[in-house]
Amino acid sequence: MKRMMIAGNWKMNKTDEEAIELTSELVKLVGDVKEPKVVVCPPFTSMRSVRDIIKDSNICLGAQNMFWEESGAYTGEISSLMLKSVGCRYVIIGHSERRGYFGETDEKVNKKLKSAMKHGLVPILCVGETLGDRDRGISKDIVKGQVEKAVKGLDLSQVNEFVVAYEPVWAIGTGRPATAEDAEDMISFIRSLLVDAFGDKVMDKIYLLYGGSVKPDNIAEFVSQPTVQGALVGGASLSADKFASIVEKSKV
Ligand code: PEP
Repeated sequence: MKRMMIAGNWKMNKTDEEAIELTSELVKLVGDVKEPKVVVCPPFTSMRSVRDIIKDSNICLGAQNMFWEESGAYTGEISSLMLKSVGCRYVIIGHSERRGYFGETDEKVNKKLKSAMKHGLVPILCVGETLGDRDRGISKDIVKGQVEKAVKGLDLSQVNEFVVAYEPVWAIGTGRPATAEDAEDMISFIRSLLVDAFGDKVMDKIYLLYGGSVKPDNIAEFVSQPTVQGALVGGASLSADKFASIVEKSKV
């Protein structure tokens, strides 16, 4: 059976009070769901609040970013050790907003992945081309470069789980998702890159997600594709009803 995951990226949204409200709703709506695996990634300021509310449910806690050093004079940064200490299990790395606004290069993504994995966090690695890349017909070259540089030197035989989200930049927050067929085409390409790098066996540990304007009315098309194992959801994860509906429609 295909293993599935739905992860919500709240981005820079929700005060602590609002995060508590949203999480409490989610626990009521999807707290018992085991398949798909449900992950929420609140802002750092609400990680403890969210952790306390989801602790007796099946919902898992994720973060939206981290720095690769363990501690030290890095004002404003958060380490994998710190994330672990608040019960975090997943961490989004290389989101296009971090790449675009905060200068996150493939080399930095690689360092973050290594640090996350060293400390037992499961990375949700984001890759995807821009509209310009797509117009130039180089989407696969871009994604290949991002994947290969990100996983350089990693030992996936040592981890239990690893997540890659294909998120075309032009589809994020635009209401203009990729077609399910295009998502499947790129995700099966990513799968082949990972098989080349790590062998067939590691695929049991990997979730391959699609992200970009996923909503309750389009999730079914994505998850019915043979290689797509769920979604990374931005905007629609801010509404408990919408997110719960996406989770429900991803049950296989
Ligand atoms: C995201 O930020 O990862 C994302 C996919 O956003 P949205 O669902 O809003 O397009």
